Amino acid sequence: MKFYHAGDKSKAACEQCKSLVTTTFAYRDVPFRHAKGQAKDLLVAVCDECGDVVSIPAQSTPAVREARNHALHSVEVKLPVPYVDMLNGGAYRIAPEAGPGFKKSLLAYYFRKYAQAPDLLEEAQIGQIASEIPLQRKAMKDLPIARLSFRYSGPVISDIDVLTDRLSINRTTLVACMARKVEQEIIEPEQPAELTTLRNIAAVVNA
Ligand SMILES: [Zn+2]
Repeated sequence: MKFYHAGDKSKAACEQCKSLVTTTFAYRDVPFRHAKGQAKDLLVAVCDECGDVVSIPAQSTPAVREARNHALHSVEVKLPVPYVDMLNGGAYRIAPEAGPGFKKSLLAYYFRKYAQAPDLLEEAQIGQIASEIPLQRKAMKDLPIARLSFRYSGPVISDIDVLTDRLSINRTTLVACMARKVEQEIIEPEQPAELTTLRNIAAVVNA
């Protein structure tokens, strides 16, 4: 693999100039093609004629990937207030000092836990819980609706996509299912099995 440095010269086809042009390698911020945001200070080939970025060398690919993984994607759902109370209650039991903002991390933990282990997903009967959500929501139809809005990085979004695909449910139902699991696993038990692990995570994310 050829390794480039800032100031190196090369040749490439420039879309803007519609011709083969000489290029100079330089650091530029490059917007992502399929997502919001940009990769900062990437070594790229810049057209000597028009100044456009004409190519990104292989050596810059990991930086693009990392920047894209860190670009935040928003997840928004609207659910009856009791589901939000379950998430807040779980977050409070784990880390009372962290405040309700910890539910974002708690949800990410649950997405990861079930996305990474298909047999755990089955064992925890998430599919069964998901099938009960519509009826449950119907019973809550007179209760206020809360809007939950989180910004997550790429890997968390992948976990969400894995789960919504595997269970054939939408994001709203997925968040409701996770809230029910938080209630069953963290709020209801005398000694929640994962309390120590989750407290350690809370200490790290709130550091
Ligand atoms: Zn050009």
